[in-house]
Amino acid sequence: MDPLWAELINSDWHDYRGGGGREDRIENPKWLSGFLMRCGVASRPLPGPTGREALRRLRSVLRRSATALMAGKAPGRRDLGAINRCLADAPLTRRVAAEGEGFAVELVPRVGGIARVLGEVTGSFAQLLATGDPARIKICANTDCGWVVYDESRNRTRRWCESTGCGNLMKVRRYRQRHRRTTRARRLQA
Ligand SMILES: [Zn+2]
Repeated sequence: MDPLWAELINSDWHDYRGGGGREDRIENPKWLSGFLMRCGVASRPLPGPTGREALRRLRSVLRRSATALMAGKAPGRRDLGAINRCLADAPLTRRVAAEGEGFAVELVPRVGGIARVLGEVTGSFAQLLATGDPARIKICANTDCGWVVYDESRNRTRRWCESTGCGNLMKVRRYRQRHRRTTRARRLQA
């Protein structure tokens, strides 16, 4: 599963089969409730217009920042400021709890709702900045698609957003292209 920051960027969905179809998945209740649950937030009630707008603003901040990282640059100062504001609005408390035979330190969120969603998403991006590898941020090789992925494969060989969607589509296109080429070659020989 892609990290939360990538999932939010990819909520600006483009039809990977071509044709220019597009959907803002923040406006899609099914997508939004799934995303909230991944952030550890109750999916009902869904965020209102202000909350959804805040998600869209963060999405732009993250897209710009990820694009900068892919170009070998640091995210802009204003974007880092926006990220830090989201983090500040979603404070966490440390708590020690028994775990197995020992203890573990847990981070307990102090807020819920949209503030926590923004906090969890920016938290995942902060983690990327601090300990991730910018060279693993990629855009799906299918230009119709444009998904941003974090390539966790050992040799950084991932090229597609999901092997079943774009990967298959590209395989079929390559096959057809090859097939066309061989039939043409045969015709020339005849
Ligand atoms: Zn793709």
